[in-house]
Amino acid sequence: MKNWIALGLFLLLVSLGYADSCDMPPVAVPPPSPEAVSFYKSGNILWIVQNLWGLAIPALILFTGFASKLRAFCDRMTRRWFWHTALFALIYLLITAILTLPLDYYTSFLRPHAYGLSNQTLGRWINHYLIGTGISTIMGIIVVWILYGVIRKSPRRWWLYFGVLTFPLIVFLVVVQPIWISPLFNKFGPMKDKQLEQKILNLASRAGIEGSRVYEVDKSADTNQINAYVTGIGATKRIVIWDTAIKRLSEDQLLFVMGHEMGHYVLHHMWWGLLVYTLISIVTLFLIYLVGGWCLRKWGRCFGFEEMSNIASLPLIFFLYALFSIVLAPSGNLFSQKIEHNADTFGLELTHLNHAAATGFVKLQMNNLGYPWPGELYMLFRASHPSIGERITYFNTYAPWCHGESLKYGRFFKEDQ
Ligand SMILES: [Zn+2]
Repeated sequence: MKNWIALGLFLLLVSLGYADSCDMPPVAVPPPSPEAVSFYKSGNILWIVQNLWGLAIPALILFTGFASKLRAFCDRMTRRWFWHTALFALIYLLITAILTLPLDYYTSFLRPHAYGLSNQTLGRWINHYLIGTGISTIMGIIVVWILYGVIRKSPRRWWLYFGVLTFPLIVFLVVVQPIWISPLFNKFGPMKDKQLEQKILNLASRAGIEGSRVYEVDKSADTNQINAYVTGIGATKRIVIWDTAIKRLSEDQLLFVMGHEMGHYVLHHMWWGLLVYTLISIVTLFLIYLVGGWCLRKWGRCFGFEEMSNIASLPLIFFLYALFSIVLAPSGNLFSQKIEHNADTFGLELTHLNHAAATGFVKLQMNNLGYPWPGELYMLFRASHPSIGERITYFNTYAPWCHGESLKYGRFFKEDQ
């Protein structure tokens, strides 16, 4: 028995001291802990409940005739289209927010606390909830104005025009999100560890990113999970690291994660994502136009209105949007998994830190209660990234530079690899 422990320790030391990516011993994908299994399974049930509830609310508002009553109430308040539309949207969005509040509270407060994934205070959660609901209500009203303005102008082609408009709308959101919205929730600042920052900036300049901005955010106030991301467009483009990642990952593990994020940056994944999202959105809106028209012909009398341009059709649009978003989720997820995989390739080619990448993701799995091998339905409907198991396996095996093979993204790097 003692021999096995000694051998285990020896292997552990060998693997910890391993700096070269060639001939590295593969890092095993650990089995999920019982807690991670429970988090995964209950998460799938929660996902189904959330989606059903998201469909039930607008369906109830429609079939009880409440939508047309609400419209009549708005008619009594004001006759001016601008205020009338805003009032209907405001009341509808607030009712939805109140009806989903218990589920939101369970999902984003009780559940992560029960699993030890968060130490956010209740006051902070309430504060974030109010700010978040406020912002989404204001944005929702603006989107509803634009949507119904377009439907009124073009009852047959509105799905195409509004679909195309999603592109500039989202571009605007992505530009302002890091400077106007995210700072309402968390503190963003320069990295505190200047030596580490310099290493990241050196890596960035090797990746061909000049004048890059790296921010540290105090997510430890909200969660114990680890993450980093790229956001913004043009002047607001930046890489953001959660302080939890800085605390818990080793320097090499963090540098690989940064290499992955730089891949998103250099390969313009933000723009590709926007383009694909716009296309999916046009298809979704076309389906809403077709099926919505059919619903109005079939149940218009029950709803109390028969035209899509009637603001009372808002719950119908929300219902169909929620439905087709679920149906079309696999297309967005498969695209996202593809670009995440490409960012992994970029990160490995840039850093050659295969071992740190693999051990870092083992840490990520343990820390975030990750489930390494989710089922196919999960991968299609819920996963924006390849599974952790797939990613660790890839980090163990992808090293073309060890066999004198050419790199997929070598042309982006400033020096010969
Ligand atoms: Zn990524």
